[in-house]
Amino acid sequence: LSDRLTQTLAGLRSKGKLTPADVDGTVREIRRALLEADVALPVVKDFAAHVRERALGDEVNRALNPAQQVVQIVNEELVRILGGDTRQIEFAKQPPTIIMLAGLQGAGKTTLAGKLAKRLAGEKHTPLLVAADLQRPNAVTQLQVVGQQAGVQVYAPEPGNGVGDPVRVATDAVRFAKDKLHDVVIIDTAGRLGVDQELMKQAADIRRATNPDEVLFVIDAMIGQDAVATANAFQEGVDFTGVVLSKLDGDARGGAALSVAQLTGRPIMYASTGEGLDDFEVFHPDRMAKRILDMGDILSLIEQAQKAFDEDEAMEIAGKLATENFTLDDFLKQMQQLRKAGNFKKMMGMLPGMGQMKEALENFDERELVRTEAIIQSMTKAERQNPKLLNGSRRSRIARGSGRTVTDVNELVKRFEQAAKMMKTVARGGTPQIPGMGPM
Ligand code: GDP
Ligand code: MG
Repeated sequence: LSDRLTQTLAGLRSKGKLTPADVDGTVREIRRALLEADVALPVVKDFAAHVRERALGDEVNRALNPAQQVVQIVNEELVRILGGDTRQIEFAKQPPTIIMLAGLQGAGKTTLAGKLAKRLAGEKHTPLLVAADLQRPNAVTQLQVVGQQAGVQVYAPEPGNGVGDPVRVATDAVRFAKDKLHDVVIIDTAGRLGVDQELMKQAADIRRATNPDEVLFVIDAMIGQDAVATANAFQEGVDFTGVVLSKLDGDARGGAALSVAQLTGRPIMYASTGEGLDDFEVFHPDRMAKRILDMGDILSLIEQAQKAFDEDEAMEIAGKLATENFTLDDFLKQMQQLRKAGNFKKMMGMLPGMGQMKEALENFDERELVRTEAIIQSMTKAERQNPKLLNGSRRSRIARGSGRTVTDVNELVKRFEQAAKMMKTVARGGTPQIPGMGPM
């Protein structure tokens, strides 16, 4: 999706005044890009119609740079479809707040239960996890493991106490939570591989019996065109107050997100981005739109990096951003910290312009970082502080010293310069731009 849209919009940018034919051509490309990304047809139609109407309207005619205005419109419409503002859990006035999870088997409910519980516990809540998936033999144990990792209590039916009734377990758990002063109850439920009436009835029964404040529909972002049918079935069968997109760390480029948010009218509240309990973030429609447009999710990147490395270092980098004094030492430190932050590839995916470097991304490995380290470490302190010193003879010395070629050194310097430019833009409060597209 990204590559296609980026190309289309980049082509548009080179134009001055737009003719209706330009607009139609662009809208056609956008339609095709969205369809290729598995966005549902009705959503694509609606999106294209909105963009077309606005692109032919006054706001573009009067704009200084009409093409850029269209890019802006595409961005705004993506944000609108993705739900506009960020929404978080609404806590009940009378605790406990009851959160029920629903979705197909393998969607990521149990993992999400752990992620939510861990996050809420970190925010001084006292969540109780409830094992109301009695379908799969291992489901209760899985939740218990997750609860232990998250450091929160799990309510599970006594083993051997007859055949478990998930509705009963859920209602007992709510009573237990009130007794023991848990202020949040997170109910994990069973899923099937496909939409199934019995499953739907069970989920609806649990909902009716516990009257949850939030019902979160968890959906695998990689599900593609099936997203629509699945989301519709759950909306009819159980209904939900919010959506959680899981497995956004994979190749999913937002197609499912666009479809589900638009067709159900329910906000996407969280994104799950990995198997670990910390791979979880609040969903920001504007950032997702930018990501879809290949603008790079700088804010998420900084947030995640900050969580992973210690705060002093983060502050120091932040200070560097503010003063625009970004040196090769900072560049190296930043790369090392990103590695520390865990899933390096995921981070790379959020950097601006990286969509265009997919291949490089696929081939990325730790050795790359080791080579970068070797090159930077072969530089003198002065060179690292002021890369402008790096003339030809210095570059060949560095190449010899690090066992790399001059081309490698040149490439590294180029990458650094791009990063430094991006940092400056961020430091000035601007949005980073990708080559050939201009700021948005
Ligand atoms: P459930 O059947 O809905 O409870 O799904 P689970 O929570 O058991 O997750 C199914 C599988 O997907 C497990 O192997 C999880 O580790 C994995 N999983 C869950 N969420 C994510 C995610 O955000 N990213 C990735 N890559 N894997 C995930
Ligand atoms: Mg489960």
